Amino acid sequence: MLQPATGYLTGFTHSLNPYIGCAFGRPVDNLGRDTVGCPYCYVRRLPVALLHPKPWGTWVTVKEGAPERLRRELRRSRVRGETLRIFLGSSTDPYQPVEGRWKITRELLRVIAEEGGVDQLVVQTRSPMVLRDVDLLRALGKKVRVSLTVETDDEKVRRLLTPTSPPVSGRLRALARLRRAGVPTQAAVSPVLPMNPYRLARLLAEAADRVVLDTFHLGDGSGGKRSRLLGMPRRLEAAGYEGWFDPDLHLRLIPIFVGILGPGRVGLGAAGFAGMNLTSPPHPRGE
Ligand code: SF4
Repeated sequence: MLQPATGYLTGFTHSLNPYIGCAFGRPVDNLGRDTVGCPYCYVRRLPVALLHPKPWGTWVTVKEGAPERLRRELRRSRVRGETLRIFLGSSTDPYQPVEGRWKITRELLRVIAEEGGVDQLVVQTRSPMVLRDVDLLRALGKKVRVSLTVETDDEKVRRLLTPTSPPVSGRLRALARLRRAGVPTQAAVSPVLPMNPYRLARLLAEAADRVVLDTFHLGDGSGGKRSRLLGMPRRLEAAGYEGWFDPDLHLRLIPIFVGILGPGRVGLGAAGFAGMNLTSPPHPRGE
């Protein structure tokens, strides 16, 4: 269950995924031939998706027996005295719809809470279903951080570019409720989609403890190449959002977010996911 963390997961020792595949990436037939959920999902370009006979988003494999396996692995780790900084949900969404029935994620959290020995756990999701597990998340105290994806404040953009994702308002409410319950929270603006940055920063300042900004170029693991292959520039342009694939987009957004949230609450890219905050806005490229 625990896989060594690689690539983008700098700062983490392991990834953990309760499912293989992700139904949030499914095609949406009634909105046009080329419409899919999370069109930018980098997992679409990884072997797990490319080698599967069916399109990404149309299949999900449930890792039955995962909690027991994790329990054994945590016990082995404890014997070895290993440090465990775990990213839960690196190639699937742990709260995609099947979790409602299978509760694999819930049981993984229960095992982690019971066994101890985990130094840090980041739970990455775009689903307010995470609220269901607030009891276990609270039991994990400061070791856990729930990272909810909120790529835009604009519901029109959400419906156009990520039509299978839960509405923005529901995600903001979920963040705020977790925060009020004492669960450490972050909003992952990942990837940055067209938005009103002033409005989104103000909403997130209320709802979340911290924010991670992550653009296509910072976050797709290939400096924007994967996102190009996935057709993101074309999709953005077709929707009238030229400029939102700019490699320097983060330089325009950082001052706005840091200005509204303060420097201690905003992270950038992989370092931001690892928990590091910006101290001051970086200089534009070349300066
Ligand atoms: S929720 Fe995450 S893993 Fe699932 S399709 Fe969307 S981006 Fe990919």
